[in-house]
Amino acid sequence: FPVENIRNFSIIAHVDHGKSTLADRLLEMTGAIAKTERNKQVLDKLQVERERGITVKAQTASLFYMYNGQTYLLNLIDTPGHVDFSYEVSRSISACQGVLLIVDANQGIQAQTVANFYLAFEAQLTIIPVLNKIDLKNADPERVASQIEKVFDIPKEDCIRISAKLGTNVDQVLEEIVKRIPPPVARGDEPFKALVFDSTFDHYRGVVTNIALFGGQVSKGDKIMSAHAGKVYEVNEVGILRPEEQPTDRLYGGQVGYLIAGMKEVKEAQIGDTLFHQKHPVEALPGFKPAKAMVFAGMYPVDQSEYSSLRSAVDRLTLNDSSVTVQRDSSHALGAGWRLGFLGLLHMEVFNQRLEQEYNASVIMTVPTVPYKAVFSSAKLIKGHRGVQKNMVYIDDQRVMMKYLFPLNEVIVDFYDHLKSLSSGYASFDYEDAGYQPADLVKMDILLNGKPVEELAMIVHRDKAYSSGKALCERLKDCIPRQLFEIAVQAAIGSKVMARETIKAYRKNVLAKCYGGDITRKMKLLKKQAEGKKKMRRIGNIEVPKDAFISVLKRK
Ligand code: GDP
Ligand code: MG
Repeated sequence: FPVENIRNFSIIAHVDHGKSTLADRLLEMTGAIAKTERNKQVLDKLQVERERGITVKAQTASLFYMYNGQTYLLNLIDTPGHVDFSYEVSRSISACQGVLLIVDANQGIQAQTVANFYLAFEAQLTIIPVLNKIDLKNADPERVASQIEKVFDIPKEDCIRISAKLGTNVDQVLEEIVKRIPPPVARGDEPFKALVFDSTFDHYRGVVTNIALFGGQVSKGDKIMSAHAGKVYEVNEVGILRPEEQPTDRLYGGQVGYLIAGMKEVKEAQIGDTLFHQKHPVEALPGFKPAKAMVFAGMYPVDQSEYSSLRSAVDRLTLNDSSVTVQRDSSHALGAGWRLGFLGLLHMEVFNQRLEQEYNASVIMTVPTVPYKAVFSSAKLIKGHRGVQKNMVYIDDQRVMMKYLFPLNEVIVDFYDHLKSLSSGYASFDYEDAGYQPADLVKMDILLNGKPVEELAMIVHRDKAYSSGKALCERLKDCIPRQLFEIAVQAAIGSKVMARETIKAYRKNVLAKCYGGDITRKMKLLKKQAEGKKKMRRIGNIEVPKDAFISVLKRK
């Protein structure tokens, strides 16, 4: 396939502005998928993505498009929209020469529109602004085009106005991809050089890598090496993604596709690695800046006998999501486990859910924390979420972009939900790391009948110790089922108790219901209890459901 006829592009947008819908339309119009209701959000393959309606993993699809009597190969790389997954966005972008920047013609520019724009801009990609949802009654493409001109310095005439839902002007999008985005720079007579921009573990075939070829070509039987692992592999299969894997004889410079080469170990296929022919070593591509973990939590198997199977599940899942950092850890209450670092709370929840759904693992996650470096005593301007305003830019007469400096722990838990409800859903939010700052912090313990729950110990700002201790005790009270005896739930700093709640004992007649009556109902009840037990963790003689650990931290 001639390189001049290849276009590699991504779709970037704020969440819900219509990436997945547009991707579906592009796939349909180029015949990659049939036009049916069942094919909704084809690129969102993971169960967690369909359930939550979000994109977590970037997926790739190769489309064939006829224009002016010529066939073009368009490689589309879908990207997630949520801030927690911006690492995926920058990876997708590295395999592209251009992006479609989708903006909802009703909502206009939002926080992640800005964040994603800068990722593409810094990578020097061609940016095609696309105003979506023009079918909406309240759509105002004129206003949004002006915003784009003002904030991104892109002439408003460059905006394409579409309805991804109805398919209006989507043909124009395909045309402009061919016209405006340059083909990749790659020559067939160069040595083979490919960037691994994603990899997954397949239970039957081992590691499957997604690669972007920066030069040369590769086919079955070739002996290749990876710069990172330094091992030699024979290529078993190459092909393109339509979006299903479709084997081909060969992949050429400029193309995007998949490669299977008998890599068995997860460590052998690092994302960001460079592949080349054994006989023609090349200089490694720059790879990726490792994503910075912002939220940390302990993870333990519910049952210690599942430690080793959980370890391989964690290995395989982190291969697919290398933004998770993993460190071995152990707790005398929970046994051997790990300390995991995530990009945010949603990222942590999605990881947990993927472990359960894709690897059938049952785990206990501890309360998430953020990294701290030192504790100083100093008065600080403190207010609400302890934010300090940095700057403010008017996007137009109705919209303003504000930058604040926040302590990260104020942001990870419920800041986003708070912001959304205060602004009736109008405000949007994105963040980046601004370094460590001094603060007046204390360690708060949570006690159940006097026994500290080490998983729930947390560092809090002194001025918030009382209110968060009280809130935590109240949440715990709701999360821990009544037991045969009374339970005191306390929050304490050192020996000083800040807050207390009491969980009353069962009344006898609740248990009495289990006796007599329908035997099948009783068996069902017992089975349910036994299953429930698996998800419990004992503290002293108190049983705590594992869900309590995550749910207590989310304030209402
Ligand atoms: P993503 O989060 O960017 O992938 O957004 P989705 O493609 O999942 O779309 C979010 C919501 O907007 C869905 O309910 C879509 O049906 C809806 N949507 C997408 N495009 C359009 C459009 O052109 N018009 C209208 N009215 N709704 C749209
Ligand atoms: Mg989506």
